[in-house]
Amino acid sequence: MAAECIFCRIVAGAIPAERVYEDDALIAIRDINPQAPTHLLLIPRRHIGSLADLTPADRDLGGALLLAARALADRLELVRGFRLVANSGSEGGQTVPHLHLHLLGGRPMRWPPG
Ligand code: 5GP
Ligand code: ZN
Repeated sequence: MAAECIFCRIVAGAIPAERVYEDDALIAIRDINPQAPTHLLLIPRRHIGSLADLTPADRDLGGALLLAARALADRLELVRGFRLVANSGSEGGQTVPHLHLHLLGGRPMRWPPG
């Protein structure tokens, strides 16, 4: 755990968050500043800075994140669709440097994103 990392602290339970799912690899919480009626963050338990830091050894984790997103979209009944976002790096709009996926749903999404 990176002691100064806010998502490591949430994973450890040192900062409260509304958990909607957890398993050995990841947790899913509600975003504190939701941008859609449903806005979850899927966060690997292990500290990885961003998608740019993922390696071939993380193949199972990558699959676990995608499958958890798909299962949560199903459980939360996002039947009209949803969006999965991984902001990566400063130009990607990443503000918390611990890999996470945004799962957004419950309203129409526009393209291209801002
Ligand atoms: P990023 O901009 O890095 O892609 O996304 C970071 C997200 O984390 C933002 O949507 C922000 O609202 C969310 N966030 C930041 N701090 C906290 C927190 O303490 N708790 C929760 N639940 N979400 C947070
Ligand atoms: Zn971290």
